[in-house]
Amino acid sequence: MTSVKTDVKEIGLYINGEYVPASNKNTFDVMNPATQELIARVSEATEEDVDRACRVARDAFENGPWRRMTVQERAAKLRKMADIILERKEEIARYDAMDVGKPYEATVGHEVARAAHNIRFFADFVEKQGGETYPMGEEYINYTRYEPVGVAALITPWNVPFMLTTWKLGPCLAGGNTAVIKPAENTPLSVSLLGEIAKEAGIPDGVVNVVQGQGSVVGNALSTHPEVDLISFTGSTATGKRILKSGADTLKKVSFELGGKAANIIFEDADLEKAVPGSIRAAFMNSGQVCLAGSRILVQRSIFNEFLEKFKEAAMALKVGDPQEKGTDMGPLVSEDHYNKVTSYLEIAKEEGAELVCGGKRPELPEYLYKGFYLEPTVYISNNPKSRICQEEIFGPVVTLIPFDTEEEALQIANDTDYGLNGVVWTENLQRAHRISHHVRAGTIWVNCWFVRDLRAPFGGFKKSGIGREGGHHSMEFFTEAKNICIAL
Ligand code: NAD
Repeated sequence: MTSVKTDVKEIGLYINGEYVPASNKNTFDVMNPATQELIARVSEATEEDVDRACRVARDAFENGPWRRMTVQERAAKLRKMADIILERKEEIARYDAMDVGKPYEATVGHEVARAAHNIRFFADFVEKQGGETYPMGEEYINYTRYEPVGVAALITPWNVPFMLTTWKLGPCLAGGNTAVIKPAENTPLSVSLLGEIAKEAGIPDGVVNVVQGQGSVVGNALSTHPEVDLISFTGSTATGKRILKSGADTLKKVSFELGGKAANIIFEDADLEKAVPGSIRAAFMNSGQVCLAGSRILVQRSIFNEFLEKFKEAAMALKVGDPQEKGTDMGPLVSEDHYNKVTSYLEIAKEEGAELVCGGKRPELPEYLYKGFYLEPTVYISNNPKSRICQEEIFGPVVTLIPFDTEEEALQIANDTDYGLNGVVWTENLQRAHRISHHVRAGTIWVNCWFVRDLRAPFGGFKKSGIGREGGHHSMEFFTEAKNICIAL
């Protein structure tokens, strides 16, 4: 078996309804992390290109038909967009498998379907959205309208490129805004299609633009650009801080989904038949490159050894290999830089005295994957929740089991982190499930499950895991301006 071979793709910027090269004709290379083969040459936007994309988006917003359409007209085009995403699901999933190294099977079956659902969900949502009315006796009446904000910069990370971008683009477009999208530089393939998909769905030129390139140049140009009114960003906490500063002068509205280091708490009354596979998914899905990963696994001491044995066995049974191949559970890490970052924690773990349970090295793989950035599912035990491997977001297939004795201790460890994106609790005790859920300081708590999403529910982080919430009316509030109209009767 060999990896799916394809020609090297040439990918342009997408501005005003067409693919264009960068103004200086520069490109950057994109590699397949499973093999280190060159897979794409992508136009690298200059600041002038970003400026053009923002001005085009502004013109489409101010003078184009998009924000003036009825909600029903916009929603119909979004539904068409969702249909096209589903029609092209194999191509989109192949792209994500090629540049992220994500298993194709799971991507085509789940993530691309969810991407289409993201768009359709917000089309349905805005059609049902009402406003508020406040009569003031017989003299006045107030009513509200939700109007588009303007030009949105949508800046997204490499771990879930397509699905996460549609999670922003859906409410952005449903609200009547125009967009300049900037995908991560090492995973530009699938997102590059969004402009042409929007056009095919009948969305006017200039409404959806895609610029490609480095965060420090292209991302920075977007977050300082005077024509950009709002930034929806998903990425690391460090970049979030930079964007907040660079957007300050032009007072941009921001929504930030940032990093995490979730506690996944296993109580002695947990059903291990569910808790073990659930914790394996939370630890190793997408090679652990998930903001919601349950990477700190807190296990009550009375069941520690039993859980450890089962968890180790399940981790070692995961099939690591070619992301394009059927049956692969875990692909490579996304890039050499990221591989170096993740594997630096193997040294840190050694220095901190953590006990290695399994993994910690490259897996045995067929020859054509020798150069891929692979790491086995890696499990440590640590008695020091303050150590770096227990505190820092490793963002790879590296997790730590931490023993605890009491509920109070579990809560204390769970909350002893700068992050607060999510938490996971495994228990068969209803009261305990509620107690722990109330006291873990995080935006989402999953009880006896993980990564179950209702798109109406608020999603976002406490502490350094984010600013604001996405999902349902939370997204629509961000992507619209509420206007109150007061009429004397
Ligand atoms: P990153 O912050 O390095 O990059 C994210 C995006 O920001 C990329 O498109 C990048 O080019 C751009 N960028 C970089 N510097 C910039 C700058 N100065 N100005 C503007 N844009 C800039 O993050 P990453 O490494 O791509 O992604 C991993 C991180 O994303 C992890 O911390 C993970 O937890 C987080 N994440 C969070 C969520 C969530 O929903 N909370 C979801 C997925 C990933």
